[in-house]
Amino acid sequence: MKKKRKNWFILGGVLLILYGGWLTYLTHRYRPYGWDKLDSLEPEGVYHLHSRFSDGRGSAEVISRTASQVGLDFIILTDHGRPNFPSLNFQGKKEGIFIFSGSELSVNRGHLVGLFFPPPAQSFSHRAEDAAREIRALGGLTIVAHPYSKTHWSWGEKFIYEGLEICNADTMVKRNILSLLPYLPLLAFNSRLPLLKILSSPTRNLRKWDALNNTRQVYGYYAIDAHLLYKSLFQLFHLHLLLHRPLSSDFQQAWSQVKAALKEGRFYNAVEAAAEADGFRFWMTKKSQIFPMGSLIRVSPPLKLQVEAPFNFAFSVVIRHNGQLFWQGQSSSITLPINSPGVYRVEVYLKENSFLDPDFPWILANPIWVEKEN
Ligand SMILES: [Zn+2]
Ligand SMILES: [Zn+2]
Repeated sequence: MKKKRKNWFILGGVLLILYGGWLTYLTHRYRPYGWDKLDSLEPEGVYHLHSRFSDGRGSAEVISRTASQVGLDFIILTDHGRPNFPSLNFQGKKEGIFIFSGSELSVNRGHLVGLFFPPPAQSFSHRAEDAAREIRALGGLTIVAHPYSKTHWSWGEKFIYEGLEICNADTMVKRNILSLLPYLPLLAFNSRLPLLKILSSPTRNLRKWDALNNTRQVYGYYAIDAHLLYKSLFQLFHLHLLLHRPLSSDFQQAWSQVKAALKEGRFYNAVEAAAEADGFRFWMTKKSQIFPMGSLIRVSPPLKLQVEAPFNFAFSVVIRHNGQLFWQGQSSSITLPINSPGVYRVEVYLKENSFLDPDFPWILANPIWVEKEN
């Protein structure tokens, strides 16, 4: 009997060593592809996070310091409230980076994020449409958060919001918790790796986005929805903004620049923990006119669609027209003639051996809308 128990102990020990060895191997194998290019015309930041001003674990001060250490240019706090006044008052330049505060509003249709509005005189409405109008009247913008999870969004007749979350990391953790289990101990050492393992293709959100894009301009967001694990989540998804002028060092000016980029859709999302996406570009031209991503173009085709993907590892660029596959291939410089109106957008998939699901868009760019000129 004693011998049997001893054998079990030995077997358990061996399995534990093997498991530890496997985790060590994974940690050594993991490194993001590419490199971070410092470009003041392309600031990087994260969107959707909670501090102790609502249900987040970290204080806004510690969160700001962590974001600064990670090398972000800005973070966008979205504490719960209609709006969350303490969070709005915290905004500013801290630890050398910009802290912008919006709020995540609980409204009758679900969760709605409002950004870039000054503190209102009174609370926003509980009705989604009214709240969106109130925020817009103050110059802000609204984004529908996690439409198919946590609080499901009830769509209603008309979509009047500027943005839609295509992926929400908090949702992914809850949905794919089983695939996280084998990597759980790594959360203590290198949590970027386990966080990559929880991402599965946001097919339903993408389909909905394509449908909405046929009716109005809607910009897509990768949201970290961080309540804890800030450092790792700050390295998971990045918003890359495309500015006309270098990001100002002055808070008010930077506020206007970041707001304009989000309002005009001049940004793309990337899973930065898998590979650095810096330098990606998507635009259209008509003779000497240039239209960046997010644009609504009212000139008659033909136009030229252009993509720059300056990456030295394997990837695949997918260009969609009204949600359907239009072009696919690996090329760091793409030029295509555009002869018909519609919604054009770009996804890039990693083809390297990576911890990111090959079906998850590593880069997700905002569309360009081509309308017939009347
Ligand atoms: Zn929420
Ligand atoms: Zn949230």
